[in-house]
Amino acid sequence: MKTIGLLGGMSWESTLVYYRLINQGVRERLGGLRSAPIILNSLDFAEVEPLQVSGDWPGLTQLLLDAARRVEQAGAEGLVVATNTMHKVADEIESSIGIPLIHVVDVTAAALERDGIERVGLLGTRFTMEDGFWRDRLQRRFGIETIVPEPDQMTTINQVIFEELCHGVIRDDSRRRYLQVIASLNQRGARAVILGCTEIGMLVGPDDIPVPLYDTTELHAAAAVDFAIGESDAS
Ligand code: GLU
Repeated sequence: MKTIGLLGGMSWESTLVYYRLINQGVRERLGGLRSAPIILNSLDFAEVEPLQVSGDWPGLTQLLLDAARRVEQAGAEGLVVATNTMHKVADEIESSIGIPLIHVVDVTAAALERDGIERVGLLGTRFTMEDGFWRDRLQRRFGIETIVPEPDQMTTINQVIFEELCHGVIRDDSRRRYLQVIASLNQRGARAVILGCTEIGMLVGPDDIPVPLYDTTELHAAAAVDFAIGESDAS
């Protein structure tokens, strides 16, 4: 098996989910006591989040690049950046390391293409929903159009991520608010909705609403499993 380099801690609540899903995936595919070779570099999110808020993306690029180089030097053969938001700097990281980066947009797009979905809602942090690095890649490379929540809905989605989910807090009231936003995206023409933040799957799942959900944490972890057992070379 190939060794996965996992950049985590953004937040560690979702890194835990990645760790479990990747290992479960390897066990399901290979059986017995097989588990995934992983080199985890878990950052202190209290150093990352203020740089996001102040818009210091060059500083964040440097921080993540240093972290990625460390896992590469430690023997990782492919990189998984376990946060959607930080894929804003994925191109810079990918071009500065010698191992492939398994891009969260590409693995999600593959699932959407497989299911013939051309118009999809996107939930995530305000950076992911507003910035375009996620939406433009999906449109440019795969021809898939995204619909994002209205500004006040975006505020709710973003607040719940940073004030609750990243602290491991799950509230029924927040779930209800998320489901309302998903229903309104659906009414505006989204046939399906991307959970484009690695913590959202802790709050809402496919049993909560009759709209197909694409959970990037599950899809990204599954792609890491494929990579580890040699069924994909990443991009
Ligand atoms: N884990 C989140 C994401 O997937 C948010 C944390 C962050 O800002 O990196 O975007």
